[in-house]
Amino acid sequence: MRNGAKEQITAPKKECKVCEKAESRYKCPICLIPYCSLICFKKHKEIPCAKPAPAPENDTGATITTVDVDRPCYVDAADKVLQRSQLECIASNSEIIDALKDKELKNLIRKIDSSADAETALDKAMGEEAFRLFTEKILSTLNQSSNQQS
Ligand SMILES: [Zn+2]
Ligand SMILES: [Zn+2]
Repeated sequence: MRNGAKEQITAPKKECKVCEKAESRYKCPICLIPYCSLICFKKHKEIPCAKPAPAPENDTGATITTVDVDRPCYVDAADKVLQRSQLECIASNSEIIDALKDKELKNLIRKIDSSADAETALDKAMGEEAFRLFTEKILSTLNQSSNQQS
């Protein structure tokens, strides 16, 4: 096969978007649709055309927020620091909900949740027996669920 023949196949001709018959040679400077001749261009201009939609710049902001909210619930067993979103995620587990009925534990978590320095608050809470048992329960639950998945 000769290169010349191949090129003709890979580069399809653009049709005039006005008459949809002739090969396009020009582009509308506003909406960029291809047209074949001045006749077709005049016809195209009978209807006001607009610029093609701009790159979705506004979307990026929304996408980032969505990703943040939909962050998967995942806790590394080696890393015993629990983040707020992880705590919220874990709170849907029935075994953990039972553990949360403990008043002392509830208060501890509320303290961490409302603390400006969550990391320090977590460190303090880890010194409490109730909280340590609670996190161990969470970690074992997470390990169980990840074992079931694999
Ligand atoms: Zn045309
Ligand atoms: Zn146009």
